[in-house]
Amino acid sequence: MDFFKKKIGIDLGTANTLVFLPNKGIIINEPSVVAISELDHKILAIGSEAKEMIGRTPDSIIAYRPMKDGVIADYRITEAMLSHYFKKALGPWNIFKPDVMISVPAGITSTERRAVIEAATKAGAGNAYVVKEPILAAIGAGIPIYEAQGHMVVDIGGGTTDVAVISLGGIVSSNSVKCAGNKIDAAIADYIKKTHNLAIGDKTAEKIKVKIGSALPVEEETELIIKGRDFVTGLPRSVKITTNEIVKALDTELKTIVNAIKSVLHEIPPELAADIIDNGIIMTGGTSQLRNLTDLVFRRIGVKAMLADDALYCVANGTGAALEHLDTYKRAILSKR
Ligand code: ADP
Ligand code: MG
Repeated sequence: MDFFKKKIGIDLGTANTLVFLPNKGIIINEPSVVAISELDHKILAIGSEAKEMIGRTPDSIIAYRPMKDGVIADYRITEAMLSHYFKKALGPWNIFKPDVMISVPAGITSTERRAVIEAATKAGAGNAYVVKEPILAAIGAGIPIYEAQGHMVVDIGGGTTDVAVISLGGIVSSNSVKCAGNKIDAAIADYIKKTHNLAIGDKTAEKIKVKIGSALPVEEETELIIKGRDFVTGLPRSVKITTNEIVKALDTELKTIVNAIKSVLHEIPPELAADIIDNGIIMTGGTSQLRNLTDLVFRRIGVKAMLADDALYCVANGTGAALEHLDTYKRAILSKR
């Protein structure tokens, strides 16, 4: 009874969790945060509601990120998260077990992969499929992954930068570094602390990055007035920040990201390297949207880099495409149950 067969695609990101339903697209996009009570380890809230609690929680509530640095840190919480999103996606009265497609980090071990499938099954999935994230990002970015052609995908999210070269539906070479949006935010906060003697929160650092940040110096700078707490007086104060200051603050993190790309290019066969020169580097994930980042990659590496359409949604859209064409993508599916 295919009509009743529900399908759900899930992108479990370090920063955001996205849920995809065929014919509907992305229906849920919430921070990957779970609020837990310290006393009895009860789950109090999941997603946006839990994120609101960060920084405002009394000591007895912990705001927990179950996806840390691109790996699943706690399977019990992941199961609760999945179950919460299955219900939200299908409605409380659904009695059919959905087929679920979940993205997993490229470097996942077989034990970790089984744990994800088990968490999904316990959460109520019928069939649970897992596919490596760079493959899903490539599918979502519209790359024909089964061509005998090398394609490079660079996904820069919240916790990790994942670089992969894909050919004939498989990952030829990949690298993952724990440096992405969150580290960039931390670098901005650190810079503001050192040069302006001002303590700012994570949300302010992220706002600076998105509003005025850039990977390369710009001629026409934009500026932003930010508020924080003075380190010396301990009192609230505001200060004006400009784009090129932020460019300097990001230097170390951006080098780490560029080096992660270089190291993959160093180890692939020359034929594939030649393909990548022709095809360019495809960039996905939220942090790839940092102003002038594709330009920086081109300047440092010498290969053109392009931001994918809907960069934030490539992995989630990829889960949807893979679910709808299970047969086409069956070789990319790691395991199912
Ligand atoms: P993940 O897959 O790890 O959950 P995402 O791909 O959802 O991560 O990207 C989240 C990151 O993207 C966050 O660090 C966020 O600050 C960053 N981000 C979102 N939009 C922009 C933008 N326009 N410029 C720079 N960074 C951005
Ligand atoms: Mg992601």
